[in-house]
Amino acid sequence: MTQLHFVGPWDLDARLPVLPAPGTAPVVLIESRAKSSALPFHKQKLVLVLSAMRHFAAELRAAGHDVELVNARSYVDGLREVAARRGARSIAVMEPREWGLSQALRKAEAEGVLPPLVRHDDGGPGSHFVFTRAEAVGWAAGRKELRMDLFYAFARKKTGLFMDDKGKPLGGKFSFDADNREPPGDERPPPHRGTAPDAITQGAIDDVRRWGHGWGQLEGFDWPVSRQDALDELERFFAERAGLFGRYQDAMIEGEPYLWHTRIGAAMNLGLLRPIEVLERIVTAHRDGMPLAAAEGLLRQILGWREYVRAMYWLRMPAMRSANALGAKRPLPVFYWEPERTEMRCVRSAAEQVRRTGYAHHIQRLMVLGNFALLAGLDPLAVSHWFWAGFVDAYEWVELPNVHGMALFADDGFTTKPYAASGAYIHRMSDHCGGCRFDPKRRTGPDACPFNPLFWSFLVRHRERFGRHPRLGALYRTWERFAETERAAILTSADAVLAGLTPAEAYRFDDDRC
Ligand code: SF4
Repeated sequence: MTQLHFVGPWDLDARLPVLPAPGTAPVVLIESRAKSSALPFHKQKLVLVLSAMRHFAAELRAAGHDVELVNARSYVDGLREVAARRGARSIAVMEPREWGLSQALRKAEAEGVLPPLVRHDDGGPGSHFVFTRAEAVGWAAGRKELRMDLFYAFARKKTGLFMDDKGKPLGGKFSFDADNREPPGDERPPPHRGTAPDAITQGAIDDVRRWGHGWGQLEGFDWPVSRQDALDELERFFAERAGLFGRYQDAMIEGEPYLWHTRIGAAMNLGLLRPIEVLERIVTAHRDGMPLAAAEGLLRQILGWREYVRAMYWLRMPAMRSANALGAKRPLPVFYWEPERTEMRCVRSAAEQVRRTGYAHHIQRLMVLGNFALLAGLDPLAVSHWFWAGFVDAYEWVELPNVHGMALFADDGFTTKPYAASGAYIHRMSDHCGGCRFDPKRRTGPDACPFNPLFWSFLVRHRERFGRHPRLGALYRTWERFAETERAAILTSADAVLAGLTPAEAYRFDDDRC
């Protein structure tokens, strides 16, 4: 009985259980036109996914697999057509990473559009995530608090990674975050070396150029598109950047998009690298001298954050999409898409970098682009779509929890307080403010850094919710100590910033189009 084996665009790993023995059954990969046009995706992201799928199809063929790579209106259309042509009685799939495809496959199976599906977990030994989906979601059962640090402690104990032989965390604590927050110094990262496009990638670039849709700069594409490229990128990181990764993990330097970060997130999210092999490589690097704080910081991104957001996604979907705990409604300002239309140097620099490369590191995402959105009360779903569209490593399972849960406090179970910060934080952690037309020390008037009045007006707007919060109470007491005229001037300045925001043009989107 013929079984068709569907390799999703995130399943590009020849060792996944969804694949048959070479030559024993047909394998299908699908380029979905509906998915590629569901949002104004970054052109480099479109190239990345296309090129990685085409490389993977070639790799499978070379290993003796019977592979079809089809272009179809949607994943379901493509599967239906190939299943019918091949006489397939069932289709083997990895559990899809995103809600939309998961639901579309379920519906098509229930309605008899597709033959029965044989599902493989997308987590657990030998898969995309360290934990099975049931283990990840099951962690939450019966817990009142679902914070990342609790999940991370669970993950460390469960895997034994960075634990000593007495069952205690290496170095006596789970997180060395406090050691990883140095502002930029005189050091500069080594010159960036990416992956030069080969003939397959050039073909994908030509296709995306011909399509004519998408956002961002196509030129300069240098993301890893195959497993070998991804392994090379990982080793370059350990050879050239790992030593200072921790110290400058949160720093921002004008004109330096990658600093000491890894650039492997996009490859991991396509299946080109498995999380467990990256985690084991970190353990080896630490044994070979990578400082504990740096190694633990990187381990936490993968074993902590990555696994945690995926658990929260499946726990909270589909409600997470409409979560809006702070009632934020303001449309996305145009400068997220057209960075030259803001004078805020930090925001312009981060958004321009995303437009040029499809990438910004976690502090640019959280404390600049996300922080502005939080303080200005931007509509969470609009912000979430921008992140989903603009970043080469973003898929709904990763960006929705990060945007709604972490950056915007829209789904309020993730953190005990919002990540709200004034311009002082950005001033301390970056070199942006020196060349900015605004003054990071002023909180009123046309020259005040917009983050400052917005920060205070955010606190005032949400006083009922945060006024008695143990870690925010001191800020409210500071506010009360300002003279009444100062308070009024701050709120007037905040209103002027908000009134000056030009909304982006509405665009069509469909979260479930795939
Ligand atoms: Fe950003 Fe304010 Fe600094 Fe300008 S002054 S770069 S707006 S933090």
